[in-house]
Amino acid sequence: MLKRILVCGAGGFIGSHLVRRLKDEGHHVTGIDLKAPEFAPSPADDFILGDLRDPAVVRDLMRQPYDELYQLAADMGGAGYLFTGANDAAVMHNSAQINLNIAEAAHRAGVGRLFYASSACIYPEHNQLDPENPNCVEDSAYPANPDSEYGWEKLFSERLYQSYARNHDLNCRIARYHNIYGPQGTWTGGREKAPAALCRKVAEAPDGGEVEIWGDGLQTRSFLFIDDCVEATIRLTRSDFAGPVNIGSEEMVSINSLARLVIDLSGKPLRIRNVPGPEGVRGRTSDNRLIRARLGWEPTVDLRAGMARTYGWISDQVSQSA
Ligand code: NAD
Repeated sequence: MLKRILVCGAGGFIGSHLVRRLKDEGHHVTGIDLKAPEFAPSPADDFILGDLRDPAVVRDLMRQPYDELYQLAADMGGAGYLFTGANDAAVMHNSAQINLNIAEAAHRAGVGRLFYASSACIYPEHNQLDPENPNCVEDSAYPANPDSEYGWEKLFSERLYQSYARNHDLNCRIARYHNIYGPQGTWTGGREKAPAALCRKVAEAPDGGEVEIWGDGLQTRSFLFIDDCVEATIRLTRSDFAGPVNIGSEEMVSINSLARLVIDLSGKPLRIRNVPGPEGVRGRTSDNRLIRARLGWEPTVDLRAGMARTYGWISDQVSQSA
């Protein structure tokens, strides 16, 4: 059945890929964001440039009925943006304001289903000190101790949507994304995340040069390719399972190994140099037992294949901007 769908944050990385997939399925899609997608025009039926911090904008948006609402808008960036402390007030204020407005307006408008993009950054720092054995099982979120204000805001907003579900029957789905990457994501400017930043550094480095890695590079992470993220997001939204549930990959690597993988894909003779920089937690990977059991979902693109596609796209961007 064709649906009417609203995507908040439709100009961003995940939002723009999600809109494309929903349009391929034939739905009527409205997108809203502060900015249009950077790398390709949005295929949304209506794309609204608007500020979701403004309650009047959000109320106006909900004058039409929606079967599904995907809430991806957030004040967002990689470690260089979220983990230095310099943007904490903006991150807390902007993202909380967006979610407060959307929860209230979605409830009043009687939106069919609401998906909220939370993050692995909600997990307590004390469970992520050992790079080989991080614990990110869903019910380890409490007692809460995220290592960033970004994580605290995500946890607050999870609880906000759960409160609207409890008191007002808002039909919510909550996912905790773990490091989503792929083509057409931010790759320069300070908000880019580790996979894109590494691809850019490798693409820009002259043969025989060095690639700088923040920290000792032994911190571990896992990375999920964008197409897998979009599939899991839609599957969760249309299921009868509310979450919160991890959407991520269990293929854990150190940041130095990820850098070596990108260097290998580039075919360039490059060395790694570890330098001081913001790192986040020591270890983090997705725990997919719950999503496997409830939705039968597994990632389908492995890290090497996904990074090959991402490196190809970013090295083209670097050449075009030179
Ligand atoms: P992104 O920054 O590319 O997209 C977020 C979008 O929200 C941006 O286009 C931004 O302009 C928009 N936005 C911000 N403030 C707004 C406002 N006041 N009004 C309207 N639009 C506004 O980020 P993304 O990687 O696409 O992430 C999407 C969501 O998933 C975010 O909520 C993010 O926190 C969450 N998430 C992402 C990852 C990841 O690895 N990319 C991991 C965990 C969680």
